[in-house]
Amino acid sequence: RAARNGEDGVRGYVASMGQIFLRRFQLVTQFRQALDAGQIEVHYQPKVALPERRVVGAEALVRWSHPEYGRLSPDEFIPVVEATGMVDALTTFVMERVLVRVRAWLARGLRLSGAVNLSVRNLADESFPDRVAEALARHGIPPGLLTFELTESSVMADPERCLPVLRRLRALGVHLAVDDFGTGYSSLAYLRQLPVDEVKIDKSFVLGMGTDLGDMAVVRSIVELGHSLELKVVAEGVEDDAARDELVRMGCDTAQGYLISRPLSENRFEVWLQARTVRKSRPGQEAEEHV
Ligand code: C2E
Ligand code: MG
Ligand code: MG
Ligand code: MG
Repeated sequence: RAARNGEDGVRGYVASMGQIFLRRFQLVTQFRQALDAGQIEVHYQPKVALPERRVVGAEALVRWSHPEYGRLSPDEFIPVVEATGMVDALTTFVMERVLVRVRAWLARGLRLSGAVNLSVRNLADESFPDRVAEALARHGIPPGLLTFELTESSVMADPERCLPVLRRLRALGVHLAVDDFGTGYSSLAYLRQLPVDEVKIDKSFVLGMGTDLGDMAVVRSIVELGHSLELKVVAEGVEDDAARDELVRMGCDTAQGYLISRPLSENRFEVWLQARTVRKSRPGQEAEEHV
């Protein structure tokens, strides 16, 4: 009887592994079509300056509304897409959307930076900086209003190839941010070598700040390290006032997280932004971007 249970267990395991592979295979084969069919949506999450809460930019975060599986998180499909050549198409798609938004914000007098997450494939692609320059020119966007977020581990995967690409992007005048900082192995020594403007403290440390003194110490050290290297420091995963107040005390420059807003669809983000920028403007004055 025990043996039979074991057998069933194994069969169940094999079946679910099969399902996982099938699903992955489907995601790979369906992605290109999903992009063309409008199933890939770009959501936006605001970044605000501390302590005054002025909106300084927004990060683009993709979602896949899959006809069979529902709303898929990028943590599930990005690795699948990265394993194929299609991540180029994704990055281009997101960057184009973001540049259209940045243009629209500028037209309303808002100088907001649009942030796009890069994959390791983009960083190893020598033609990427030229394509970025072309897109900026075509949309008429000042390069300083485009930010690329990259993780340390993606640079470390192949520093010889990635560093020249990063230097060329930076020479264009676009901003570069190290994402998920603190989770890699070589953090401190390597940060100094990277041609970046901004460091984003990984949300795991920010989320733990209220309950874990170790996390609090890590956050404080990253703020100090970032500032000593003359980088702007952004905290992601800011979920409550206590975390926000502590970050203000530490001198952290920018905050992003559910406390300010969850990532929002394009339309909902525009409504949110409108409410934030109109609320403070007094009658007879132009809308300010401050809140
Ligand atoms: P990330 O770039 O580190 O983005 C931050 C993640 O934290 C997002 O998850 C965001 O929704 C989540 N987040 C923001 N504020 C809070 C908070 O206060 N609390 C908590 N618990 N979470 C918060 P999301 O949207 O699921 O994205 C996951 C990852 O997928 C991103 O991490 C990024 O690495 C990747 N990704 C998203 N969009 C793209 C893309 O267009 N291209 C590439 N290559 N990667 C992307
Ligand atoms: Mg990011
Ligand atoms: Mg991050
Ligand atoms: Mg992340």
